[in-house]
Amino acid sequence: MNFKVWCLGWITCFTSLPAWGFVHIHQLKPHLDVSPAQPLISFFWNGAAPKLDAKDGVFDGAFSEASDRDLMELLLKEAVRIWTDVPTAYIEMEIVEKADVELDPDDETFSIVVEKQKSVAVAAASLPSFLSQDPDPSDVEKNPHLIHDCDISVSDSTVEAKSLLHTLVHELGHCLGLGHPHSTYQSIMSYATFDQSAHLYLDDEAGVTFLYPEPSESQEVKSITCGRVGGGDAAGGGAANLARLLMGLSLCFPFALSLSRLWRRAHSPRP
Ligand SMILES: [Zn+2]
Repeated sequence: MNFKVWCLGWITCFTSLPAWGFVHIHQLKPHLDVSPAQPLISFFWNGAAPKLDAKDGVFDGAFSEASDRDLMELLLKEAVRIWTDVPTAYIEMEIVEKADVELDPDDETFSIVVEKQKSVAVAAASLPSFLSQDPDPSDVEKNPHLIHDCDISVSDSTVEAKSLLHTLVHELGHCLGLGHPHSTYQSIMSYATFDQSAHLYLDDEAGVTFLYPEPSESQEVKSITCGRVGGGDAAGGGAANLARLLMGLSLCFPFALSLSRLWRRAHSPRP
């Protein structure tokens, strides 16, 4: 193998690993005002629907003849189900039809309003509110770590049903407290993904589990034994340093061995 190609392979393998992970909508890590005892958030939908195309692209085509309104209701319920069914997170969401809901960032009503948008490029937008402008704030509004409101505005323009479902799951993710990860394609919250299906990736599930950890997942663990190398005293610190040194040498050994072989091969006399 060419020496330069070999070096390039090592560098590529150990420097290009992507930093996958979820991100929050803000460094305050705001989340919805729920608890394991009261895990439910209701989203109030104004009952309107966009013109839906390619209806056979969702639910295996079972509702390809459904009206726009009926299919919109199914898409909304499917979108909240996808987040609610994450087994390691306790959050629950439901869709309630309410004709007179409106977009108001401080009414503490979670609204989904289908309406005409100013820009045709906007399919939907969500507005998680956690820094209140209310002159007379409630206790929840006073807490910047709590999302006290999140309204979702959906365009009434024609859209494919599958694409709209993907968009609804994405916008609900913002209302849960998740932002746009720019270092991964493996998230429905990423702008970079070309996958229009509405399933969650591991990063999405990790994000919602971080914000709303299901207590039963940890209560089943009675005790945890942790291994730790070294300690605070001099003897423990010496052992830790020795362990790190040995670990480092063991990791470097294959690299050094193959490097020396290549070096010998490159400098050995040719017949
Ligand atoms: Zn987004």
